[in-house]
Amino acid sequence: MSSQKRTKIAIIGAGPAGTTLSMGLSKEKIDHVLIDRSTFPRDKICGDALSGKVVYALNRVKPDVVNQIASNTKDYLPSWGISFIAPNRKRLDIPFTTDKNHVKQAPGFIATREDFDHLMVQNTPSEFCEQRFGTKVNQTEIKIDGVHITLDDGSVIDADAVVDCSGTRSDLAKDYGIELEHNHYCAGLRRYYEGVEGLSEEGYIELHFINDVLPGYFWIFPMTNNRVNVGLGMLSASVSKNKINLKKELDRIVSEHPEISKRFKNAKPLETVKGWGLPLGSKKRKLSFNRLLFCGDAASIIDPFTGEGIGNAMISAKYAADVLSKAVKENDFSEALLKEYDEQVYHHLWPELNMSHQLQKMVKYPWLFNFVANKGLKSNEFKTLLTSMFENVDLRKKFKDPRFYLRLLFNK
Ligand SMILES: Cc1cc2nc3c(=O)[nH]c(=O)nc-3n(C[C@H](O)[C@H](O)[C@H](O)COP(=O)(O)OP(=O)(O)OC[C@H]3O[C@@H](n4cnc5c(N)ncnc54)[C@H](O)[C@@H]3O)c2cc1C
Repeated sequence: MSSQKRTKIAIIGAGPAGTTLSMGLSKEKIDHVLIDRSTFPRDKICGDALSGKVVYALNRVKPDVVNQIASNTKDYLPSWGISFIAPNRKRLDIPFTTDKNHVKQAPGFIATREDFDHLMVQNTPSEFCEQRFGTKVNQTEIKIDGVHITLDDGSVIDADAVVDCSGTRSDLAKDYGIELEHNHYCAGLRRYYEGVEGLSEEGYIELHFINDVLPGYFWIFPMTNNRVNVGLGMLSASVSKNKINLKKELDRIVSEHPEISKRFKNAKPLETVKGWGLPLGSKKRKLSFNRLLFCGDAASIIDPFTGEGIGNAMISAKYAADVLSKAVKENDFSEALLKEYDEQVYHHLWPELNMSHQLQKMVKYPWLFNFVANKGLKSNEFKTLLTSMFENVDLRKKFKDPRFYLRLLFNK
């Protein structure tokens, strides 16, 4: 195919970031083209946990998608909380909501990315959105008067601005200084199983911090149809430094760990082990340039402690839609105007990302982690803090106050 298309905004990538942005732009009646190298449905290696932030972002761009998720009990397992299992095997159960009796649906869900990303894509068609799927962006040229994009099917798109939502291995992000650095990047593995025992009745996701694989964690996320998403993630710097073979460690935990292996005695793997990277938001980056924004994994904003990236990707896309709406109205796509995007993203996400970075560092010291887990078991304030992180409560003021940390450590 060889064609030329003129549009306002080009979006590269139709994962959670790209599709959320597309819904946001359609809501603002802004012409755009949504491009993805894949056709949907397609798999994406992930833990598949959709946090309250996913619901939060969808409620701002297209609330009906939340109803579609909540009513689809075949593919989406409601999740009411998270269990942290410390190296000393103490278990800290943190509900996602402080008031379970007064919410109409679960705060989080677990579903395969094949299903979730497909649902997101199915919700993008509108008179303002043109989809180009199954074709890859080969080249993006950013000029003074516009953006020129060449696809590998030979077609060309001219836009006022481009948003890179192409995920972890974005060449454009690398060109603009958003490098994948070993200290801010995590390696992750996933394997689906069926028949794992001892799962929470309320769809709690489990993060196990195990001595042999610190700093990193092993996860068990329950799903519908008796399936489970099992995985292992660890900071790349630690994987290289300690020469860790993550796949071997995953197999070893499942077959030899004194407690965990018992839960897998009747389990059956449904696939081979698969791996992908997680660009962490443990460092601030510049995300806006003339006629260009980065969203989601291309912006490196995954939570460094929990590995949550879908909600952050969608929240960044929501702010991108807001700022682009202003840019379109003022016909100004300069860095000076677009930099408001960085301010919005970091104003809302940095307090949490920073706090998670501190927690991630703590994982290097099992005794400290055990100490905090023991404290957390006794301290309601600590539990409430973690719950409110998941509930999206504005925590900025608390995080800035050093007395808050002192209270956490020394209160009963
Ligand atoms: C092992 C693992 C476990 C994880 N677990 C969780 C979890 O449980 N919960 C959670 O919230 N997050 C999790 N994450 C993080 C989460 O997967 C990402 O943060 C999320 O997918 C980011 O969404 P995105 O839209 O930015 O990018 P992606 O989902 O990667 O989407 C990018 C899209 O861009 C397309 N694309 C790429 N290059 C091009 C190109 N040149 N031209 C056209 N299209 C292109 C791709 O085909 C893809 O569809 C996990 C990640 C890993 C690796």
